[in-house]
Amino acid sequence: MNTAATGFVYHEDYLKHDTGYHPESAERLVSIMRKLEEVGITEKMKRILPVKASNEQIQYVHVDGYIKKVEAMCKGGGGMLDPDTPLCHDTYEIALLSAGGVTKAVDEVMLKADNGVRNAFALVRPPGHHATSNKGMGFCIFNNIAIAAEHLKRKYDVKRILIVDWDVHHGNGTQEVFFDDPSVLYFSTHQYPHYPGTGWIDEVGKGEGEGFTVNVPLPAGTDDAGYLYALWNILVPIAMDFSPEFVLVSAGFDAHVDDPLASMNVTSPGFGLFTDVIKEIAEENSKGRIVIALEGGYNLNALAESTLSVFDSLLSNGEGREKRKEKISENERVRKRVEEVKEVQRSYWTNLL
Ligand SMILES: [Zn+2]
Repeated sequence: MNTAATGFVYHEDYLKHDTGYHPESAERLVSIMRKLEEVGITEKMKRILPVKASNEQIQYVHVDGYIKKVEAMCKGGGGMLDPDTPLCHDTYEIALLSAGGVTKAVDEVMLKADNGVRNAFALVRPPGHHATSNKGMGFCIFNNIAIAAEHLKRKYDVKRILIVDWDVHHGNGTQEVFFDDPSVLYFSTHQYPHYPGTGWIDEVGKGEGEGFTVNVPLPAGTDDAGYLYALWNILVPIAMDFSPEFVLVSAGFDAHVDDPLASMNVTSPGFGLFTDVIKEIAEENSKGRIVIALEGGYNLNALAESTLSVFDSLLSNGEGREKRKEKISENERVRKRVEEVKEVQRSYWTNLL
């Protein structure tokens, strides 16, 4: 019997996606698991074993020609999918297991029986949020979080899904997939200007999806307080209005102050504070249902500590949250950017003050 409220997805096969000398390495997951086991937190959670996503599930998001291209390249021994994205012989199968890890986490949270969990964190690789419908890029092969959102729509008939993407890079792939879809609200904070170049405030969705994409491009140097200011002043009011039935998070840890690929100043405990905000939204709207998927994060130590902070938040009962809120302060450049975003988004979300 397992009555844990929080689950985690992990499989040693995730280490088989061999990228060579590359920041998105198998060592990332080794470092995370070592830390989680060192502090004994895995014993308090339900371990969820992933299964490979089916071809049909991958096709929810990706065109068949692209899927076949990845499969063929891997069968031929691998190669470079784009200048940043290496494939090895096993990558195709492991990318299916990565997407399948996030959908399995969704299934566990949606379980009605007592053995389900309220929330789960899928510790998967390769990451996914840069992968578009017809193109892998930026270390990403298949868009794990987008596939999970489509799985929620199709298997469980979920009508409103919130995706929060706090990876330091803009999730161009996820944005593209849901740009005209009002059932998925895509919210992203990211360093701007920075890779991949998208994610300005005027990218708000199109057609029926107009207003359901919210981009918060932040200046280099934004710290915990700046992020929390953006989350409380933009994400929370919009999310409370949207009232998601399920919350998904693209959790990259490359906004960490020690990360080698970006220039933000978030601390390891900061990611736990972001998770507290997500929990408040989920408790209010989605019966606490949250699935978090690992995206980036390239300083091995910072990645492990930040992941632990997220788990600490998921496992906590919310005590001390009020005190943490008081710590929110403002950085002038962040405050100005938040005002600019609100100005654009007020056309769609009337409760934005
Ligand atoms: Zn990233």
